[in-house]
Amino acid sequence: MTQLVWFRNDLRVADNPALTAACESSEAARACFILTPDQWQEHDWSPARVQFVIAHANALAEELARLGIPLSFIYANRFDDSIEKLQSHCEEHKVTTLHFNEEYGVNERKRDKAVKYRFDELRIAVRKYRDQTVAPVGEILTQQDEPYSVFTPFSRRWRSWIDETHPGLFPVPKARGNAVSPEQIDTIPDAFQDAPEPLVATGESAAHDRLERFLDERGGAYKEKRDFPAIDGTSLISPYLANGVLSGRQCLIAGRQAQGAGGNQEGLGTWITEIAWRDFYINILYHYPRVSMHRAFKPETEALQWNTPGAKFEAWKTGNTGVPIVDAAMRQLNQTGWMHNRLRMVTAMYLTKNLFIDWRLGEAYFMSKLIDGFLASNNGGWQWSASTGTDAAPYFRVFNPVTQSERFDPNGDFIREWVPELARLDRKRIHDPGAKEGVIPKGYPRQIVDLKESRKEAIAKFQELKN
Ligand code: FAD
Repeated sequence: MTQLVWFRNDLRVADNPALTAACESSEAARACFILTPDQWQEHDWSPARVQFVIAHANALAEELARLGIPLSFIYANRFDDSIEKLQSHCEEHKVTTLHFNEEYGVNERKRDKAVKYRFDELRIAVRKYRDQTVAPVGEILTQQDEPYSVFTPFSRRWRSWIDETHPGLFPVPKARGNAVSPEQIDTIPDAFQDAPEPLVATGESAAHDRLERFLDERGGAYKEKRDFPAIDGTSLISPYLANGVLSGRQCLIAGRQAQGAGGNQEGLGTWITEIAWRDFYINILYHYPRVSMHRAFKPETEALQWNTPGAKFEAWKTGNTGVPIVDAAMRQLNQTGWMHNRLRMVTAMYLTKNLFIDWRLGEAYFMSKLIDGFLASNNGGWQWSASTGTDAAPYFRVFNPVTQSERFDPNGDFIREWVPELARLDRKRIHDPGAKEGVIPKGYPRQIVDLKESRKEAIAKFQELKN
């Protein structure tokens, strides 16, 4: 008789409620991870993310082997096929209980419902855990028991829930019997996809090292430095969080410990608020499944007639719009699979307001490149930038990318790193080389739209919705 843990978006042994619960039984414990490459492709997973997940699934197999828990890799193509395969696996290993941590995308929920239905028939118990957020998803509600659709009151309630509840971590299970021998450890061959050089080191302990080093050395200065892409001012833990190598609880507790150890309260507090943003968007996905079906949070914005994407969309994707900060950011994304948060906002607003191209196309393109692609946050960020989402940027407040560049990359260092054509320009000209009839360096494009005109047109189109 066996307890089976099905790992999905939670590739870690520490603070994993499904794993801890499965190991509370006296029955043997096993684990599985199902590869669904066609489904990943349908969900626009990037090669960088696929490679990251595979590397971490392999690392997880080794960690679990030390605890005496064998992990099997099951090959399916799509979620639909995975149910059959999971059933055979459970029958082969005489599984009595299946444990997993919940996921909230619409297809993931459909899959899990189908699994529950099938396993009820087979009389295999299914236990689900709410792991993805600090406060269990659905727990942070208004006084009227309604979901929040604005971040600030959500975060206030989130903080008071934490103060009332003192969430802790789920313990790493004790080793059970003998470790699984190295030759019995299942491995996924690495040659799955072409991907950029991995951005961060592989493994749970590497993730914790990065988190702790950030909190010790840079967390206190987060508030002042987080908006400057040329500075190493943010944690870069998003690939780990997006794929469950770290949990939100671990981040919150580590952040609070750093505050308790005398770190700069405000800087660390601002960073903790980012964990609240993540939880906010996961709750939005949970309460409003339409956002994971390409629908706008604000239904009235679905009437917007977006421009046909065409050549301008290609210019945006490849970093050839003639707006240096946009181009630098897109090239960073294309080459590394990551982009700084400030620039995600700038490039998303440029696409949706200045080029007036549908946010859904930008959302899918980001997903197809990001190593930290995470439906809830990516959708939330895109709908915020496009003014179609919860708490969205008001439609009339459109970032001017050149002003943003002057403010957040004042010396042009970030632009120089990613747009070598402009490397020789001084700190004044680099943000907008064609301004005041300046000569644009050879090989660099002229701006593909007029920033002021396109801003005005976008605002007018949003205003029309009101009439
Ligand atoms: P830090 O600043 O160190 O923050 C710590 C953690 O808090 C992050 O790792 C992340 O998990 C969370 N966080 C920070 N900012 C946000 C935010 N605005 N919304 C939700 N969570 C946040 N984040 C993703 O993880 N995956 C995505 O696919 C994604 N797509 C985005 C698309 C757009 C258009 C925008 C505007 C933002 C997007 N974000 C996404 C949020 C944010 O840009 C990244 O989480 C952040 O840049 C990651 O870098 P970091 O780990 O150094 O963050």
